[in-house]
Amino acid sequence: MLGAAAVLLALRARRASAATGTSPRLTGGSPPTPSNFVPVPWNKPKLAGKRILTEFPLLKPADKVMVQAPGSPAGLKPLHRLAADAYLAMVAAARADGIPSPMLDINSGFRTDAEQRPIWERRLNMERARAQERGERVSESEIVLRARQMVAPPETSNHRTGFTVDLNLGRSYAEKQVPLMMQEPAWQWLDKNALRFGFYPYKNRYGEVVEPWHWEYNPAYPPPPPPPPPPPGK
Ligand SMILES: [Zn+2]
Repeated sequence: MLGAAAVLLALRARRASAATGTSPRLTGGSPPTPSNFVPVPWNKPKLAGKRILTEFPLLKPADKVMVQAPGSPAGLKPLHRLAADAYLAMVAAARADGIPSPMLDINSGFRTDAEQRPIWERRLNMERARAQERGERVSESEIVLRARQMVAPPETSNHRTGFTVDLNLGRSYAEKQVPLMMQEPAWQWLDKNALRFGFYPYKNRYGEVVEPWHWEYNPAYPPPPPPPPPPPGK
């Protein structure tokens, strides 16, 4: 929930953004550009350089910033400040490569455990209903296993870290949309470029992309070097 002051700040930033075309990032300082951006690692070296697997530190209020893709109608979303910088640099690069809003706008960033709980319960209910429709007799632990394929229980969702984003790929977040999303130029752009900004996709243990919209900021040590400067003009 945003406080009145934060809402005011958000509105001001949105107005400023509309006037100047820059992306809002509500902590002061301007966001990095794709050419000067270098991902800053935050995890232990042996856990970095892949999706966030074993530790889900809860985002500290002091690290929380509100961000929005340039021109996004989706509004401001909370992220960790390091992920916010990386996200804004990444989207600026995608826009320069011709990927328009609302593609890659943030649908969801940081979520508290309390916000994750109803998402988890909805998924459990959906799996119970699905099993019943099929006439399957399955244990509650099997229901939990199935639900976990698509949703993390509270306290184990890496959205609680502020380093995770669910991005707009033009379709609803449903299993049957996954192959279609992966044909979108926006997803193919992410597949080629997100790593450079420190973002990793969610793949299952077979290496398959399960949620093409879900990306996690967890860059390796040392950060990869920035791209070389463009060649001098003729
Ligand atoms: Zn997600």
